[in-house]
Amino acid sequence: MAQRTDAIVLGAGIVGTSVALQLAKRGLSVALIDRRGPGEETSYGNTGVIVGASVFPTAFPRSLKKLIQVALKRAPEANYHWGDLLKIAPWLVSYYRFSSLENLKDSAMKLRPLMSRAVAEHETLLQDSGAMKYFRKTGWITLYRSDAAFEAMKPQLEFGAQIGVAAQTLDAEGTRKLEPNLNPVFRHSLFWPDVASLSNPLMVTRAYAARLAALGSVVIKGDARSLHRADGKWRVDTESGPVDAENVVVALGPWSPDVLEPLGIRVPLGIKRGYHRHFDPKGNASLTRPVIDTEIGYALTPMEQGIRLTTGAEFASRDAPATPVQFDRLMPYAKELFPLGEPNEAEPWLGRRPNMPDALPVLGRAPGQKGLWLAFGHGHWGLTLGPVTGRLIADMMTGATPFADPAPYRAERFG
Ligand SMILES: Cc1cc2nc3c(=O)[nH]c(=O)nc-3n(C[C@H](O)[C@H](O)[C@H](O)COP(=O)(O)OP(=O)(O)OC[C@H]3O[C@@H](n4cnc5c(N)ncnc54)[C@H](O)[C@@H]3O)c2cc1C
Repeated sequence: MAQRTDAIVLGAGIVGTSVALQLAKRGLSVALIDRRGPGEETSYGNTGVIVGASVFPTAFPRSLKKLIQVALKRAPEANYHWGDLLKIAPWLVSYYRFSSLENLKDSAMKLRPLMSRAVAEHETLLQDSGAMKYFRKTGWITLYRSDAAFEAMKPQLEFGAQIGVAAQTLDAEGTRKLEPNLNPVFRHSLFWPDVASLSNPLMVTRAYAARLAALGSVVIKGDARSLHRADGKWRVDTESGPVDAENVVVALGPWSPDVLEPLGIRVPLGIKRGYHRHFDPKGNASLTRPVIDTEIGYALTPMEQGIRLTTGAEFASRDAPATPVQFDRLMPYAKELFPLGEPNEAEPWLGRRPNMPDALPVLGRAPGQKGLWLAFGHGHWGLTLGPVTGRLIADMMTGATPFADPAPYRAERFG
């Protein structure tokens, strides 16, 4: 006999776990299914930023100098695998096309309703889940080593002011009042006060999953690729036997196509891989918020495990072996900025950002499949957008008026 639930959520990353929790909070019984424990994949290793104050999505570089640097594998912020270039070329081309100023503005506007609620929605779930100890409302700082890089940021700042995103301009001295352990190797910075961060993203996803269980729903191990129709419902085979539901949400992040393509649903999901490594600080050095070394393209965040250094993008197949070569290019810059000691784990961690070319997630009903819902493709900002995604999907699935217009996020926008 199959277990019956109101909804199945496939994928227990921050997105799926938040969707499941928002549904359970509305009284639905939910089975959250993953082959691993909650939050152990991409949602584990990110920079921990809840970027309620983002302006433009991360763009494909358009300066010739930068493109040449990337092509020659000298750019600290990006790497790629030669052997995978042909395979990922169509996605890279759409990403390049998307990265015009006009398109970036358009996506920034479309993301705004989600971004502007992201911090508040996390805060509510953190309170519900008894996980406020991981939450910091201390903003983040983006650093600019050269005047030119700071000037290049101006159009984004001006557009941010128009759409209600606040940033304070600081010089090196002003920045060091906030973070005294940063060495003044930069000339300017921006302090974004409406940004929050988490000191342990894994523990937060686990706390949301525990809250889900406390509400009477279940977290089960199973393979999402077993999804099929049975007795007029959706069925997934799990370690606890088959589970049936009228509605199923695909929240498998970078693995979403594994389930959708056999159902005939194709979306242009690209993978931007990224790495992290934890370092002990030297002596008593500390940080109180995430800091981005913008031109070099890495971040430093204080985490429970140490100072987490996260890298920019690596363009390669999702499942290709790890090649953390960016650390060699980055470390001299990171060490001159902050007194980093030794790494406190043997190997860097590899994660896979699930990116749509227009930097908007795919949210809502799946085309042509009754009872199938989509919640993936959050790219650089899935940790930020998990809870607010959950709320929007829960609004739609329960027939409530969605708090934001879901039309920009429909899968059909790609034709
Ligand atoms: C280096 C780096 C830094 C980042 N920094 C930030 C940041 O500061 N702020 C921010 O907002 N975002 C950040 N991100 C992005 C963010 O981490 C992701 O967008 C987010 O974690 C995606 O969440 P998800 O739930 O969609 O995917 P995932 O967390 O990957 O969850 C997908 C789940 O599906 C499961 N799964 C896959 N296949 C199957 C299967 N066949 N059967 C069952 N289960 C399956 C996996 O086990 C996994 O648990 C960063 C990402 C990286 C890589």
